[in-house]
Amino acid sequence: MNEFDLLIDLHKDGHRQGPGSVKDTLKALNMLNIDLSKPMKIADIGSGSGAQTITLAQHIEGEIIAVDLFPEFLTKLNADASELGLQNKISTLQRSMDALPFTKEEFDVIWSEGAVYILGFEEGIKQWKEYLKTGGYLVLSEITWLTNERPREIDEHWNTEYPEIATASSKIKILEDNGYSIVGYFVLPESSWIDNYYLPMENRFEAFLKRHPNSELALSIVETEKEEIRKYKEFKAFYSYGFYLARKL
Ligand code: SAH
Repeated sequence: MNEFDLLIDLHKDGHRQGPGSVKDTLKALNMLNIDLSKPMKIADIGSGSGAQTITLAQHIEGEIIAVDLFPEFLTKLNADASELGLQNKISTLQRSMDALPFTKEEFDVIWSEGAVYILGFEEGIKQWKEYLKTGGYLVLSEITWLTNERPREIDEHWNTEYPEIATASSKIKILEDNGYSIVGYFVLPESSWIDNYYLPMENRFEAFLKRHPNSELALSIVETEKEEIRKYKEFKAFYSYGFYLARKL
């Protein structure tokens, strides 16, 4: 298996593929000024196995198209949706987020938790705007500095991993410069990282390494994740995921 396949194998059984929670998703949904009893159309981009897709489907009327590049995640999402009787509200699309087949102004809401970084924040909000109705909402969670200054170790780490990491004010300015108006912002709590993402991942390490007993690559993936968890625990005062809620002007 190559590195991609191993990463999918480590993450595919996870309930989530990034920090977040039902509470965070619902908080963001309820901060939008929309009548949830009216049918709407939502795109959930980089859905993974669809933790937030399911939560959204349970609280809205209408339909959600969940997009992810990897079929392993979408298979799980489809199975969960069927089990919960939500298959009429959720459809899945295996596609890269930079080549979406959508039409102009197709969606009332574009949702994306922990995934816009793949395109880059600015590129993502520019590309996806086309598919959003005027007055429609863009809802994103994205890694964000919580303070203007921070220890060099964590500053260098994240600037290398993701140079677009920035404070909320910078991200909000990028949204405003690109034709969006901010309607809300909040920061994910620690439990959305530890309880919902890192702890379940840690619990999968042993079985993952057993599935790939002689793989140096598997071992190095686990070491890298462990190091990311260590950094989070040490430096969580300086970064988190911010939830950005914006309206297309
Ligand atoms: N929203 C989910 C998953 C976030 S992880 C959650 O919060 O749990 C990022 C997701 O983006 C992964 O599921 C990954 O498979 C997907 N992804 C990676 N590259 C992609 C691409 N080019 N196009 C679409 N999805 C992609």
